Amino acid sequence: MSVSKSNIFECVVVGKGLVGSAAARHLQNLIGNVAVIGPDEPKDYNASSVFASHYDQGRVQRIIGVDPVWTLLNQRSAMRYPMLEKESGIQFHTPVGCLYVSHVGKDEYVDNVPTQAQKFNTGYQFLNSGDEIHKCLPAYNFPNQAFGVLENGPAGYINPMNLVQAQLALFNKQGGVTLTDTVSSVRKSGSEYEVDIESGETLRANRVLITAGAFSNFHSLIPKPLDLFMKSETVLLAQVSSAEVLRLKNLPSLLYEIDNGSVEGIYAVPPVIYPDGNIYFKIGCNLPSDIVFTELAEIQEWFRHGDSDANIPAIRDALNVIMPDLKVEKFKSKRCLISRTKTKKAYIGRADDHQLFVAAGGNGYTAMCSEATGEIAAHFTVHGVGSEGFNIEDFKPVFN
Ligand SMILES: Cc1cc2nc3c(=O)[nH]c(=O)nc-3n(C[C@H](O)[C@H](O)[C@H](O)COP(=O)(O)OP(=O)(O)OC[C@H]3O[C@@H](n4cnc5c(N)ncnc54)[C@H](O)[C@@H]3O)c2cc1C
Repeated sequence: MSVSKSNIFECVVVGKGLVGSAAARHLQNLIGNVAVIGPDEPKDYNASSVFASHYDQGRVQRIIGVDPVWTLLNQRSAMRYPMLEKESGIQFHTPVGCLYVSHVGKDEYVDNVPTQAQKFNTGYQFLNSGDEIHKCLPAYNFPNQAFGVLENGPAGYINPMNLVQAQLALFNKQGGVTLTDTVSSVRKSGSEYEVDIESGETLRANRVLITAGAFSNFHSLIPKPLDLFMKSETVLLAQVSSAEVLRLKNLPSLLYEIDNGSVEGIYAVPPVIYPDGNIYFKIGCNLPSDIVFTELAEIQEWFRHGDSDANIPAIRDALNVIMPDLKVEKFKSKRCLISRTKTKKAYIGRADDHQLFVAAGGNGYTAMCSEATGEIAAHFTVHGVGSEGFNIEDFKPVFN
């Protein structure tokens, strides 16, 4: 799409991922005349300079987070899903519940669940041992010292690609402009910003919000780099038959806090259909072989040619312990990228002394709360404060 050179957008949002698409929709509602720009998932990874953390069909959705800020983010986001699905006509939320398991028995998260559940008026069930978990959910197996917390819907899982499409559908309906391209630089020019895009055009805007996820420090988008820790993430896709789908129909998604030297922090999403037409049970975790990135070229190399298959045995072994009865036809790996912040919360704030803003750093948990994260970013960009219930200081960016 070509944009008239005389057009000055009120705001250009750079990055049309989970946070960017949500922020763009809220910004269009708040001020109008908003454009969001970013590439779609590349068909040829060699031809793209940036990638994303949401090229997948499943992301865990829980409600009770590690603290009240995360819980409010999750709850606020999930509350909006029925509206987003209804008004966009795009389904992305499966509220089958979410099981949290601590490998070592009660941990800090578990200890905080009752207080948080009361504060946010949300339900949960404690499962006091591996045996109790197995009795309640026979497909899952954990050692007997494990402790479980089961949340019912709206916890469950979401399809991140469809959530982005739903946000963009509503944004477009409200008159927002969606552009598919990569931004090569953002420059201040007088009282405006010039946003150069790889196709050679330049967009003009009064404000710019950078929501480029792990890529926010590259392509001259912001003057000072954010303090972001970026690492590779390997996902194992276990292909299953439709009989397994039926058997596991009501299985909750899983967050399993374990660190046994081979795998750390497991998450899993029940079988869902992928674009290749196959159905996969998805499981991922941190691994000793994860690669820490500082340069764009390293990330590009990982997405294009990284040896994620070398990680299949470690994740497969973990899956075999948790779900010994799962009948898997084939395994394949998928490469992704996680960005973590110093503060353990997303960074939302100013990136210069004028009208350049940033919202980045998902910490591995921002698919489930991208709607509320985008809303805070939009409110801060327009009003200089967070949205209702949030203190913007909790999201203050740390720069290097
Ligand atoms: C394997 C894996 C599993 C995960 N599981 C979960 C989970 O179960 N639950 C959960 O809540 N979270 C999960 N996460 C984390 C979650 O996916 C991220 O927190 C979330 O995607 C962050 O959203 P974002 O919009 O900040 O970044 P992204 O989703 O990465 O979007 C950033 C966008 O910016 C674009 N971009 C980058 N550079 C430019 C540029 N120069 N110009 C234009 N556009 C640009 C990219 O193309 C991309 O579309 C997982 C992450 C991974 C990798």
